[in-house]
Amino acid sequence: MSGQCKPCRRGDYHICDHLKVQGFQAPGCAQQWFVTAVEKVVPLPEDFTFEQGALVEPAAVAVHAVVRAGDVAGQNAVVLGAGPIGNLVAQVARASDADVLVTDLSDFRLDVARRCGISHTSRADRETLWEATARAFGSSGFDVAWDCTGCEAPVDAAVGSIAKGGRLVVVGVFAEKPRVDLGLVQDRELSLLGTLMYRRNDYQRAIELIVAGKIATGPLDSAHFRFEDYAAAYEFIERQSDRSMKVFIDLFDDSIGPGFNGEQN
Ligand SMILES: [Zn+2]
Repeated sequence: MSGQCKPCRRGDYHICDHLKVQGFQAPGCAQQWFVTAVEKVVPLPEDFTFEQGALVEPAAVAVHAVVRAGDVAGQNAVVLGAGPIGNLVAQVARASDADVLVTDLSDFRLDVARRCGISHTSRADRETLWEATARAFGSSGFDVAWDCTGCEAPVDAAVGSIAKGGRLVVVGVFAEKPRVDLGLVQDRELSLLGTLMYRRNDYQRAIELIVAGKIATGPLDSAHFRFEDYAAAYEFIERQSDRSMKVFIDLFDDSIGPGFNGEQN
């Protein structure tokens, strides 16, 4: 039963033994009626756009991932992967006063990161992580990294080049079991930390950061589809996987903005 397991009893309900995420293991919002417990409802500020509202959930993932790393103020930080979650982790880390480098294989995603104000970016297939961090941070290296790729090579590169005593937060979901040099974790006193999702306070912090303009949401808005074209939205994501960030399904015609993909009309 929910609320009774060991994680729940210490307040970690986001890693409940019986966790069912709405939209994944339980029905989500794509239905006529959506019912949820009132304690799970967080009101949005009145002047929020629907797009900002939709980005609170992934931003809360990022807030929790950054909180897991502890205090990052004044530290050099690397975010592996510039998809929507990597982008938001980078923005939250920057909002927490870290100096941030983002790596990815996609020029499109790195360009979005720069438009969100992340100044250091690197194509991971064109320079090593070592070279990229030397370019961004000089000889001081980096103290903290978030993996938002779920891939072996970037994680192993991060473990191999992070400063002694550094922290690596695993945000990405791995399809295959990665081989990572745990000998370096031992020898350099690194900390490996996992992060799954968020608690209510992470949601509230995400809203505060968006209100304060510390998380840019506009550059993440890739396309809009009408509710009637629900399947087409997923086909678009499939086709454009490295050339899109967030795709919105609009329930009201008048909210269809300039990002609407005309070919689906
Ligand atoms: Zn539980």
